[in-house]
Amino acid sequence: MDKPVLIGFSDVAPHLIKMQKEILPLHQGMQVYLSTLNPIVYFRWGKHTTNRELAKIHIPPVGKTYTICFNPVLDSVGIPAEVLMSFLWHEYVHIYKPPFKEGDRWINHYPEFHEVERRDPNYYFSNRWIRENL
Ligand SMILES: [Zn+2]
Repeated sequence: MDKPVLIGFSDVAPHLIKMQKEILPLHQGMQVYLSTLNPIVYFRWGKHTTNRELAKIHIPPVGKTYTICFNPVLDSVGIPAEVLMSFLWHEYVHIYKPPFKEGDRWINHYPEFHEVERRDPNYYFSNRWIRENL
């Protein structure tokens, strides 16, 4: 890949290190979509464990620097790597298929978004695991 996704870490936590070492190299499939966009993606932990939202991406109004924020509930040794990969995949799809405005509301998840989301090789495994365990 000539233009890889650049990842920076602002926190040191076992699961982010695990993602960096084990999960990101497995994520070549998503880089196919992102290579022409050449984004810079940072990871950080969120502050709240109560919010049901498990991962969230901050999309800048201009520029290519994104931050993906993970719910600290994911900082657990019990979370399979495939599930973390699926969270990353979902957030990366937000870069590839960005939100758009319809009237005065933002549309984040739409049919073309879900179509790319389902290309995640762990999609069905992860959804099932999340339903049963989180
Ligand atoms: Zn989303």
